[in-house]
Amino acid sequence: ESRFVQAQWTPMEGERGYIIVFHDNTILRRQEQIRRDFVANVSHELRTPISILQANAETLLNGALNDKAYGVQLVNAIERHAIRLSQIISKLLDLARLESNELIFKNEPLNISSIVNSVQEHITPLAQEKNITCWSMIKPEVVCMGDREAVEEVLSNLVSNAVKYIPAGEQISITCSELQGFNRIEVSDTGAGIDASHHSRVFERFYRVDKGRSRDMGGTGLGLSIVKQMVRKMGGDVGVESVNPHGCRFWFTLPKKMEGQRVTRPATGHP
Ligand code: ADP
Repeated sequence: ESRFVQAQWTPMEGERGYIIVFHDNTILRRQEQIRRDFVANVSHELRTPISILQANAETLLNGALNDKAYGVQLVNAIERHAIRLSQIISKLLDLARLESNELIFKNEPLNISSIVNSVQEHITPLAQEKNITCWSMIKPEVVCMGDREAVEEVLSNLVSNAVKYIPAGEQISITCSELQGFNRIEVSDTGAGIDASHHSRVFERFYRVDKGRSRDMGGTGLGLSIVKQMVRKMGGDVGVESVNPHGCRFWFTLPKKMEGQRVTRPATGHP
């Protein structure tokens, strides 16, 4: 973006000519904008439930307590918004810990199919409520390097998002494909999908495709940004793409275990 480019002209004494130095501030400015948006989003996301808690408590104190049915309705809303507030705070803390490098990730060989099985077991009751089938096709010998708990959390986030956002009766599949040096684990669904214009932004903090829908489903808009941070800490990457005829595929990569690789090195950074 040319408006972010500053030019500095330095005439050289005794020389015929100039050195022209261009500083491209685009990335710095973008980072600053992301930081400012984040602060604004955090205060908005925290203020909304807090003002509902305040308003409902005030209404109760001002007489609504005498109307039992109405009182119960207000107290239920207080409980819902208090839960939401604590979910947002705990996810923000997770993000802060991830960003401050406070969390140490193991770098051990992981059998992906056993992790997939345990995520499937956890998700089955929720999926059954919506008559959603979640199947997987991962060779038992696929081994990646990473931290078991973190990979479980990443996969569980992607699968539970799919259960949350696809209509009843649709399907989820978990597959794995091999790349050079990496395995790519994919969670595909047959839901409405995500328009390509949102693909580059869904991993941003607080970004939701449909804000109202996400909130109604108890979403915080932080899940995918946590997923991205975790995967990057383990040396992999994340992405999303559309699936034909409808649906989306979230994927993440993890380094393969190489022959003779020592497993004591902690995972750091992105390759
Ligand atoms: P949330 O807490 O809102 O679920 P996430 O960061 O986990 O936040 O996801 C960001 C947004 O991406 C969601 O609000 C939703 O709009 C969209 N999304 C995630 N997974 C899917 C999916 N499988 N199908 C359709 N939309 C999805």
